[in-house]
Amino acid sequence: SLLSGGAAIDESVMDELEAILFTSDIGARTADRLLEDLKQRRGSDRLKTADEVFAALREELSAIVRLPAPSLFDDLDAERTKVVMLVGVNGVGKTTSMGKLAHWAKNKGHSVLLGAGDTFRAAAVDQLQVWADRTDSPLVRGADQADPSSVLFETVERGVKEGFDLVLCDTAGRLHTRAELMDELKKMHRVMGKAFEGAPHEVILVLDATIGQNAIAQARTFVEAIPVDGIILTKLDGTARGGVIAGICDELKIPVYYIGVGEGVDDLRAFDPDEFVGALFDSFGEQA
Ligand code: GDP
Ligand code: MG
Repeated sequence: SLLSGGAAIDESVMDELEAILFTSDIGARTADRLLEDLKQRRGSDRLKTADEVFAALREELSAIVRLPAPSLFDDLDAERTKVVMLVGVNGVGKTTSMGKLAHWAKNKGHSVLLGAGDTFRAAAVDQLQVWADRTDSPLVRGADQADPSSVLFETVERGVKEGFDLVLCDTAGRLHTRAELMDELKKMHRVMGKAFEGAPHEVILVLDATIGQNAIAQARTFVEAIPVDGIILTKLDGTARGGVIAGICDELKIPVYYIGVGEGVDDLRAFDPDEFVGALFDSFGEQA
């Protein structure tokens, strides 16, 4: 097969490679760039066999997704309270990821305060309350239909005043229009900075691996509105291989911090670029 070819490559191998890349969710731009690169390297006669071409592709993909990603928890022992804001559209797994992060930090002995910034749906606050109870972390919740910015202002202020190590802020994923959502997020971001200089220290964009290439468009929209520091890619426990992340890292240069691999409290993993590219290649192999 294509993946284990020691024989010299011909055009059909390159065609097959092109087909695999374009059906892999990586995104057309990145797939194009990778193919051009491989063609050039082939032309310069360094890549003679299918094995060599695939090794080169693997190398390039690894380089793309290996962006410097500081651990969220590295500096939690510092004096300063760390404020993290989670953003993303409805259903991607913001609230769930927040619960998992709270659990992770608690396990490492840190104190965690949660803020219910998704005030547009009553159920959203109740869902976060479940995670607060589960992780034994206090939750700041506003009155019904409260202004989300005021809830998060209060959250950050309390987090700092009471010396919490980590403050995690949930946000809405849907308003009447996308422009309204982005305006609301910008406002929340600004207001948090008023409660505590420099907050939020991290903005994490949560993306659902199962929606494939739509995640790239989603990421662009958020990045245009607010400064995104890192990504959590959820739902990698299903059939999705998350090829889209290569496109996002390539285009937007935002590192993946964590991946979600289930709905449970422990189903969060630090992103491992090598493991990720390995799994992506396995899926190429299934296609080839
Ligand atoms: P939010 O609207 O962004 O806050 O998303 P939620 O946290 O409410 O999650 C939406 C749904 O996705 C819920 O049913 C979660 O249990 C589920 N979910 C979240 N993360 C994962 C994951 O990593 N794997 C799987 N299989 N389901 C997840
Ligand atoms: Mg939610």
